Amino acid sequence: MTQTSETRWSIAIHGGAGSMTPATMDQTAVAAHEAALCAALAAGEAVLCAGGSALDAVTAAVIALEDDPLFNAGRGAVFTYEGVNELDAAVMDGATRAAGAVAGVTRTRNPVTLARKVMEAGPHVFLSGEGAEQFAREQGIEPCDPAWFSTPERLRQLQELKARASGWFDDGLKYGTVGAVARDAAGHVAAATSTGGLTGKRWNRIGDSPVIGAGTYADDRAGAVSCTGSGEQFIRAGVAHEICARMRLAGEQVQDAADAVLAEVGAMGGVGGVIIVTPAGETAMAFTTPGMFRARADSTGQRTLAIFGEVD
Ligand code: ASP
Repeated sequence: MTQTSETRWSIAIHGGAGSMTPATMDQTAVAAHEAALCAALAAGEAVLCAGGSALDAVTAAVIALEDDPLFNAGRGAVFTYEGVNELDAAVMDGATRAAGAVAGVTRTRNPVTLARKVMEAGPHVFLSGEGAEQFAREQGIEPCDPAWFSTPERLRQLQELKARASGWFDDGLKYGTVGAVARDAAGHVAAATSTGGLTGKRWNRIGDSPVIGAGTYADDRAGAVSCTGSGEQFIRAGVAHEICARMRLAGEQVQDAADAVLAEVGAMGGVGGVIIVTPAGETAMAFTTPGMFRARADSTGQRTLAIFGEVD
Protein backbone atom coordinates (compact mmCIF):
# COMPACT_ATOMS: atom_id res chain seq x y z
CA MET A 1 0.00 0.00 0.00
CA THR A 2 1.66 3.23 -1.09
CA GLN A 3 1.57 6.29 1.11
CA THR A 4 -0.06 9.56 0.13
CA SER A 5 0.62 13.05 1.39
CA GLU A 6 -2.24 12.49 3.83
CA THR A 7 -0.87 9.28 5.33
CA ARG A 8 -0.35 10.15 8.97
CA TRP A 9 -0.07 6.61 10.25
CA SER A 10 -0.16 3.07 8.93
CA ILE A 11 -0.15 -0.43 10.33
CA ALA A 12 0.19 -3.96 8.98
CA ILE A 13 -0.26 -7.23 10.84
CA HIS A 14 0.24 -10.92 10.10
CA GLY A 15 -1.01 -14.11 11.67
CA GLY A 16 1.53 -16.37 10.04
CA ALA A 17 2.49 -17.65 6.61
CA GLY A 18 1.51 -21.20 5.79
CA SER A 19 0.07 -23.87 3.58
CA MET A 20 -3.54 -22.65 3.73
CA THR A 21 -5.50 -22.50 0.48
CA PRO A 22 -9.21 -22.07 -0.26
CA ALA A 23 -9.30 -25.85 -0.70
CA THR A 24 -7.89 -26.59 2.75
CA MET A 25 -9.78 -23.98 4.80
CA ASP A 26 -13.53 -24.04 5.13
CA GLN A 27 -15.69 -20.91 5.19
CA THR A 28 -16.16 -21.02 8.95
CA ALA A 29 -12.42 -21.06 9.53
CA VAL A 30 -11.89 -18.29 6.98
CA ALA A 31 -14.53 -16.12 8.66
CA ALA A 32 -13.08 -16.77 12.14
CA HIS A 33 -9.55 -15.84 11.05
CA GLU A 34 -10.79 -12.74 9.25
CA ALA A 35 -12.68 -11.61 12.34
CA ALA A 36 -9.61 -12.18 14.51
CA LEU A 37 -7.36 -10.24 12.14
CA CYS A 38 -9.92 -7.45 12.02
CA ALA A 39 -10.02 -7.20 15.81
CA ALA A 40 -6.22 -7.13 16.12
CA LEU A 41 -5.92 -4.53 13.39
CA ALA A 42 -8.56 -2.43 15.15
CA ALA A 43 -6.60 -2.64 18.41
CA GLY A 44 -3.54 -1.19 16.69
CA GLU A 45 -5.53 1.36 14.70
CA ALA A 46 -7.20 2.66 17.86
CA VAL A 47 -3.79 3.52 19.31
CA LEU A 48 -2.62 5.27 16.16
CA CYS A 49 -5.91 7.13 15.62
CA ALA A 50 -5.62 8.55 19.11
CA GLY A 51 -2.13 9.85 18.32
CA GLY A 52 -0.38 6.98 20.13
CA SER A 53 3.02 5.60 19.25
CA ALA A 54 3.89 2.91 16.71
CA LEU A 55 5.38 0.96 19.62
CA ASP A 56 2.09 0.96 21.53
CA ALA A 57 0.18 0.10 18.36
CA VAL A 58 2.25 -2.98 17.51
CA THR A 59 2.13 -4.10 21.14
CA ALA A 60 -1.68 -3.77 21.24
CA ALA A 61 -2.15 -5.64 17.96
CA VAL A 62 0.15 -8.48 18.98
CA ILE A 63 -1.50 -8.83 22.41
CA ALA A 64 -4.84 -9.27 20.64
CA LEU A 65 -3.37 -11.96 18.38
CA GLU A 66 -1.61 -13.70 21.31
CA ASP A 67 -4.91 -13.91 23.18
CA ASP A 68 -6.71 -15.41 20.20
CA PRO A 69 -6.46 -19.24 20.17
CA LEU A 70 -6.50 -19.33 16.36
CA PHE A 71 -2.89 -18.20 16.09
CA ASN A 72 0.40 -19.80 17.06
CA ALA A 73 1.31 -17.30 19.76
CA GLY A 74 0.24 -16.99 23.37
CA ARG A 75 -3.02 -18.92 23.71
CA GLY A 76 -3.15 -21.43 20.86
CA ALA A 77 0.63 -21.77 20.58
CA VAL A 78 2.00 -25.00 19.16
CA PHE A 79 3.48 -27.69 21.42
CA THR A 80 7.06 -28.83 21.78
CA TYR A 81 7.80 -32.53 21.37
CA GLU A 82 7.48 -32.84 25.16
CA GLY A 83 4.02 -31.27 25.09
CA VAL A 84 4.94 -27.83 26.46
CA ASN A 85 4.12 -24.39 25.05
CA GLU A 86 7.43 -22.50 24.83
CA LEU A 87 6.86 -18.95 23.69
CA ASP A 88 9.16 -16.44 21.97
CA ALA A 89 8.55 -12.73 21.33
CA ALA A 90 10.35 -9.53 20.42
CA VAL A 91 9.64 -5.85 20.06
CA MET A 92 11.74 -3.04 18.59
CA ASP A 93 11.42 0.73 18.53
CA GLY A 94 12.69 2.27 15.30
CA ALA A 95 13.15 5.70 16.88
CA THR A 96 15.89 4.56 19.24
CA ARG A 97 16.61 1.03 18.02
CA ALA A 98 15.86 -0.10 21.55
CA ALA A 99 14.77 -3.74 21.54
CA GLY A 100 13.55 -6.41 23.91
CA ALA A 101 13.06 -10.13 23.40
CA VAL A 102 12.24 -13.31 25.28
CA ALA A 103 12.54 -16.97 24.35
CA GLY A 104 11.20 -20.17 25.82
CA VAL A 105 8.79 -18.63 28.32
CA THR A 106 6.06 -20.94 29.55
CA ARG A 107 4.11 -19.00 32.17
CA THR A 108 3.74 -15.48 30.81
CA ARG A 109 0.38 -14.88 29.20
CA ASN A 110 1.53 -12.16 26.81
CA PRO A 111 5.17 -12.69 25.84
CA VAL A 112 5.19 -9.43 23.84
CA THR A 113 4.44 -7.52 27.03
CA LEU A 114 7.40 -9.19 28.68
CA ALA A 115 9.62 -8.40 25.67
CA ARG A 116 8.57 -4.79 26.05
CA LYS A 117 9.47 -4.87 29.76
CA VAL A 118 12.88 -6.28 28.84
CA MET A 119 13.32 -3.36 26.46
CA GLU A 120 12.14 -0.68 28.85
CA ALA A 121 12.94 -1.86 32.37
CA GLY A 122 16.04 -4.01 32.18
CA PRO A 123 19.67 -3.67 31.12
CA HIS A 124 19.55 -6.49 28.55
CA VAL A 125 17.96 -7.13 25.17
CA PHE A 126 17.28 -10.88 25.17
CA LEU A 127 16.21 -13.10 28.09
CA SER A 128 15.29 -16.76 28.04
CA GLY A 129 13.58 -19.50 30.03
CA GLU A 130 13.48 -19.41 33.82
CA GLY A 131 15.44 -16.16 34.00
CA ALA A 132 12.94 -14.42 31.75
CA GLU A 133 10.09 -15.69 33.95
CA GLN A 134 11.88 -14.46 37.05
CA PHE A 135 12.36 -11.04 35.46
CA ALA A 136 8.64 -11.01 34.59
CA ARG A 137 7.66 -11.65 38.22
CA GLU A 138 10.08 -8.97 39.44
CA GLN A 139 8.41 -6.56 37.02
CA GLY A 140 4.99 -7.35 38.43
CA ILE A 141 3.78 -9.55 35.57
CA GLU A 142 1.69 -12.29 37.19
CA PRO A 143 2.39 -15.86 36.09
CA CYS A 144 -0.41 -17.65 34.30
CA ASP A 145 -1.35 -21.31 34.38
CA PRO A 146 0.42 -22.97 31.39
CA ALA A 147 -2.94 -24.63 30.64
CA TRP A 148 -4.07 -21.21 29.36
CA PHE A 149 -2.01 -21.72 26.19
CA SER A 150 -3.24 -25.22 25.40
CA THR A 151 -5.87 -25.90 22.72
CA PRO A 152 -7.20 -29.26 21.47
CA GLU A 153 -6.24 -28.46 17.87
CA ARG A 154 -2.58 -27.85 18.73
CA LEU A 155 -2.49 -31.07 20.77
CA ARG A 156 -3.94 -32.90 17.80
CA GLN A 157 -1.22 -31.43 15.54
CA LEU A 158 1.47 -32.64 17.95
CA GLN A 159 0.00 -36.13 18.05
CA GLU A 160 -0.18 -36.17 14.25
CA LEU A 161 3.47 -35.18 14.04
CA LYS A 162 4.54 -37.81 16.57
CA ALA A 163 2.67 -40.49 14.64
CA ARG A 164 4.73 -39.76 11.55
CA ALA A 165 7.67 -42.02 10.80
CA SER A 166 10.10 -39.22 10.02
CA GLY A 167 10.69 -35.50 10.35
CA TRP A 168 12.24 -33.31 12.98
CA PHE A 169 9.35 -30.95 13.46
CA ASP A 170 6.41 -29.42 11.63
CA ASP A 171 7.51 -29.12 8.03
CA GLY A 172 3.87 -29.06 6.90
CA LEU A 173 3.89 -25.30 7.36
CA LYS A 174 1.20 -25.03 9.98
CA TYR A 175 2.50 -21.61 10.81
CA GLY A 176 0.58 -18.98 12.70
CA THR A 177 3.20 -16.76 14.24
CA VAL A 178 1.88 -13.24 14.71
CA GLY A 179 3.41 -9.85 14.11
CA ALA A 180 2.77 -6.18 13.56
CA VAL A 181 4.58 -3.19 12.11
CA ALA A 182 3.44 0.41 12.34
CA ARG A 183 4.39 3.96 11.54
CA ASP A 184 2.93 6.64 13.78
CA ALA A 185 1.97 10.25 13.17
CA ALA A 186 5.33 11.37 14.53
CA GLY A 187 7.05 9.37 11.78
CA HIS A 188 8.45 6.62 13.99
CA VAL A 189 8.27 2.92 13.14
CA ALA A 190 8.10 -0.17 15.36
CA ALA A 191 7.84 -3.93 14.97
CA ALA A 192 6.71 -6.79 17.20
CA THR A 193 6.54 -10.56 16.66
CA SER A 194 5.32 -13.41 18.87
CA THR A 195 5.23 -17.18 18.37
CA GLY A 196 5.05 -20.65 19.82
CA GLY A 197 7.64 -21.69 17.23
CA LEU A 198 7.26 -25.00 15.42
CA THR A 199 5.20 -28.01 16.45
CA GLY A 200 7.43 -30.74 17.84
CA LYS A 201 10.46 -28.50 18.40
CA ARG A 202 13.02 -29.90 20.83
CA TRP A 203 16.10 -29.00 22.82
CA ASN A 204 14.88 -25.49 23.63
CA ARG A 205 14.95 -24.64 19.94
CA ILE A 206 14.50 -20.91 19.26
CA GLY A 207 13.37 -19.64 15.86
CA ASP A 208 13.82 -16.29 14.17
CA SER A 209 10.86 -14.47 15.73
CA PRO A 210 12.57 -13.20 18.91
CA VAL A 211 15.97 -12.79 17.25
CA ILE A 212 16.50 -9.09 16.62
CA GLY A 213 17.55 -8.65 13.00
CA ALA A 214 16.18 -12.05 11.94
CA GLY A 215 12.42 -12.15 12.66
CA THR A 216 11.99 -8.63 13.99
CA TYR A 217 13.67 -5.31 13.27
CA ALA A 218 12.86 -1.60 13.29
CA ASP A 219 14.93 1.39 12.30
CA ASP A 220 13.50 4.83 11.54
CA ARG A 221 16.13 5.18 8.81
CA ALA A 222 14.75 2.22 6.85
CA GLY A 223 11.54 0.65 8.16
CA ALA A 224 10.07 -1.96 10.47
CA VAL A 225 9.82 -5.66 9.63
CA SER A 226 8.10 -8.68 11.20
CA CYS A 227 8.64 -12.16 9.75
CA THR A 228 7.02 -15.58 9.74
CA GLY A 229 8.25 -18.81 8.22
CA SER A 230 10.98 -21.40 8.52
CA GLY A 231 12.93 -19.83 11.34
CA GLU A 232 16.25 -21.55 10.77
CA GLN A 233 16.67 -20.04 7.29
CA PHE A 234 15.29 -16.68 8.44
CA ILE A 235 18.00 -16.55 11.10
CA ARG A 236 20.71 -17.51 8.61
CA ALA A 237 19.61 -14.80 6.18
CA GLY A 238 19.11 -12.17 8.91
CA VAL A 239 15.90 -11.40 7.05
CA ALA A 240 14.47 -8.38 8.90
CA HIS A 241 17.78 -6.53 9.12
CA GLU A 242 18.76 -7.50 5.60
CA ILE A 243 15.56 -5.98 4.19
CA CYS A 244 16.22 -2.76 6.13
CA ALA A 245 19.86 -2.71 5.04
CA ARG A 246 18.92 -3.08 1.38
CA MET A 247 16.54 -0.13 1.66
CA ARG A 248 18.87 2.05 3.69
CA LEU A 249 22.22 1.34 2.06
CA ALA A 250 21.30 0.28 -1.47
CA GLY A 251 18.23 2.50 -1.85
CA GLU A 252 16.05 -0.45 -2.88
CA GLN A 253 12.28 -0.08 -2.97
CA VAL A 254 10.58 -1.86 -0.11
CA GLN A 255 8.86 -4.53 -2.23
CA ASP A 256 12.05 -5.28 -4.17
CA ALA A 257 14.03 -5.66 -0.95
CA ALA A 258 11.41 -7.99 0.54
CA ASP A 259 11.23 -10.16 -2.59
CA ALA A 260 15.01 -10.37 -2.91
CA VAL A 261 15.54 -11.46 0.69
CA LEU A 262 12.75 -14.04 0.54
CA ALA A 263 14.42 -15.39 -2.60
CA GLU A 264 17.64 -15.79 -0.58
CA VAL A 265 15.67 -17.66 2.07
CA GLY A 266 14.20 -19.81 -0.69
CA ALA A 267 17.65 -20.64 -2.02
CA MET A 268 18.49 -21.96 1.46
CA GLY A 269 15.37 -24.13 1.41
CA GLY A 270 13.15 -21.90 3.54
CA VAL A 271 9.73 -20.36 2.99
CA GLY A 272 7.68 -17.72 4.74
CA GLY A 273 6.54 -14.14 4.67
CA VAL A 274 7.27 -10.61 5.82
CA ILE A 275 5.35 -7.43 6.54
CA ILE A 276 7.07 -4.07 6.36
CA VAL A 277 6.30 -0.41 6.94
CA THR A 278 8.58 2.39 5.78
CA PRO A 279 9.23 5.69 7.59
CA ALA A 280 7.01 7.34 4.93
CA GLY A 281 4.14 5.07 5.95
CA GLU A 282 4.18 2.74 2.96
CA THR A 283 3.34 -0.86 3.84
CA ALA A 284 4.53 -3.92 1.92
CA MET A 285 4.02 -7.65 2.23
CA ALA A 286 5.62 -10.66 0.58
CA PHE A 287 5.36 -14.41 1.10
CA THR A 288 6.50 -17.59 -0.59
CA THR A 289 3.93 -19.90 1.02
CA PRO A 290 0.45 -20.50 -0.46
CA GLY A 291 -1.04 -18.08 2.06
CA MET A 292 -0.36 -15.62 4.85
CA PHE A 293 -2.92 -14.26 7.31
CA ARG A 294 -2.54 -10.52 6.88
CA ALA A 295 -4.22 -7.14 7.15
CA ARG A 296 -3.32 -3.49 6.93
CA ALA A 297 -4.80 -0.06 7.37
CA ASP A 298 -3.77 3.58 7.27
CA SER A 299 -5.02 7.02 8.20
CA THR A 300 -6.41 7.66 4.70
CA GLY A 301 -9.07 5.03 5.35
CA GLN A 302 -7.52 2.23 3.29
CA ARG A 303 -8.06 -1.17 4.88
CA THR A 304 -7.35 -4.61 3.41
CA LEU A 305 -7.43 -8.12 4.78
CA ALA A 306 -6.45 -11.37 3.06
CA ILE A 307 -5.42 -14.96 3.64
CA PHE A 308 -4.66 -16.63 0.34
CA GLY A 309 -2.84 -16.12 -2.90
CA GLU A 310 -1.18 -13.16 -4.46
CA VAL A 311 -0.13 -10.20 -2.38
CA ASP A 312 -2.90 -7.59 -2.60
N1 ASP B 1 9.20 -18.30 12.33
C1 ASP B 1 8.64 -19.10 13.39
C2 ASP B 1 9.72 -19.95 13.99
O1 ASP B 1 10.53 -20.47 13.26
C3 ASP B 1 7.52 -19.98 12.95
C4 ASP B 1 6.41 -19.28 12.20
O2 ASP B 1 6.59 -18.23 11.64
O3 ASP B 1 5.30 -19.82 12.24
O4 ASP B 1 9.71 -20.15 15.19
